[in-house]
Amino acid sequence: MLKIGLTGGIGSGKTMVSDHFARLGVPVIDTDQISRELVAPGTPALTDIHRQLGSQFIQADGSLNRKLLREHVFTDDAARKTLESILHPAIQKEVQHRLSRIEKEPYAILVVPLLVENNLGAMVDRVLLVDVPESLQIRRVCQRDNSSEEQVKKILAAQAPRKARREIADDMIQNDGDLQALHRRVEELHRQYLALANHTD
Ligand code: ATP
Repeated sequence: MLKIGLTGGIGSGKTMVSDHFARLGVPVIDTDQISRELVAPGTPALTDIHRQLGSQFIQADGSLNRKLLREHVFTDDAARKTLESILHPAIQKEVQHRLSRIEKEPYAILVVPLLVENNLGAMVDRVLLVDVPESLQIRRVCQRDNSSEEQVKKILAAQAPRKARREIADDMIQNDGDLQALHRRVEELHRQYLALANHTD
């Protein structure tokens, strides 16, 4: 089955795009959602985080203090590697499991926000990038999250640069128009992916 990796920076429009693929009947597997489920209270991954990174990341109710962990791995490379060694194999396994249940579909969308940062291109057959000018990205995230421009700029600085994403993309969606234009572009890609899936069968 053809696997399309959907990626893009914060607020680029990945959710809008994957929602539209889903409306067209395409299975969508969201690795962000999987990674949240994997660290729910009582899961093996959360126990590993507790053991290997420390009890300070577990809150009184047994849930993960995501904010504290995110800040910690942001400044500590060894901790980030440990976290990745816990999460990545578990995410891959869950993705494989979900893919095995939809084997008969021509293609699937895998949402991998940090595909470039985590060098996960090998997980997919093609990379689809939602590309957007930074100024628009900042404006949309400020509006959506009620964040300040400064906060959003900090997040952007921590993510892969736009250029690095564009270099590894096989297909691109320029999300600088309205939602109607975005949907039309998704529909166009849907037709291309169906043709490609038929061709490679
Ligand atoms: P994150 O990386 O934070 O998960 P995302 O890439 O999934 O974000 P979305 O949530 O889909 O991005 O979009 C960011 C915001 O921009 C949302 O509020 C969305 O409604 C808005 N948006 C996205 N595309 C468009 C568009 N073409 N026109 C107007 N608003 C848009």
